[in-house]
Amino acid sequence: MPELPEVETIARGLQVPLVGRTFTGATVAWPRTIAPQSPDEFSRGIAGRRVRSIGRRGKYIVITLDQGYLLVHLMMTGRLKVAPSDQPLERYTHTVLGLDNGCQLRFRDVRKFGRLYLVEELSTITSKLGPEPLAIQLEEFEELLARRSGRLKSLLLNQGFLAGMGNIYADESLFQAGLHPQRTADTLTAVERERWYGAIQAVLTRAIRMRGTTLRDGGYVDAQGEAGDFQSQLAVYGRTGEPCRRCATPVQRLVLGGRSSHFCPQCQT
Ligand SMILES: [Zn+2]
Repeated sequence: MPELPEVETIARGLQVPLVGRTFTGATVAWPRTIAPQSPDEFSRGIAGRRVRSIGRRGKYIVITLDQGYLLVHLMMTGRLKVAPSDQPLERYTHTVLGLDNGCQLRFRDVRKFGRLYLVEELSTITSKLGPEPLAIQLEEFEELLARRSGRLKSLLLNQGFLAGMGNIYADESLFQAGLHPQRTADTLTAVERERWYGAIQAVLTRAIRMRGTTLRDGGYVDAQGEAGDFQSQLAVYGRTGEPCRRCATPVQRLVLGGRSSHFCPQCQT
């Protein structure tokens, strides 16, 4: 699933082709993608709205319109791209939004879990999200942690704690900080909290700079259809049985709350 660095990369890649353009309407082949609106309501609602800016909140791409917002959650396999309207549609393209320059914003989604939300207020969708990990200072991170006692891995996956992290960057930041995924928040020392904060910042910043992680064919691509480069930098995620890059101990995998965690039993305590 695309996480913060991948969603950020896609949002940046959509700015040039979309900012300043006006939507002309939409064709929706899989109505659940835009529910609760009907395809007709959605198309009438988006028509005539102009794109002011494009950003990200958690794992949502946020397209700010002259009135209201269009939010996109890619979930597992969603992809966005802008293409000329005479270019053939790729299979699994369920939603097509027309643009005033003869191009289209196309949403393709093999698994069909992705969603588009056309809303008047951003908070309709984002009110339950925690802060952006790259926008908080250490003191704010400490305050967030002070109210928590859960396992570190579960906290990172909880979008109400911090918005935008998923399995990959949760595992990578815990490795970077030398913290075991099963540790609980209330056992961390001040030094460990600071190290974890720094690791989250460092891992996410580096992953954005390398335009995200593409694990295999059919995985994430950016708005231009290009794969990311961060997969070569992964220290533990998806490396079960391979030597730790720091100490050569085989990386272990552990299932926690239904999600797998990858960690080095030597480096992470
Ligand atoms: Zn190690």
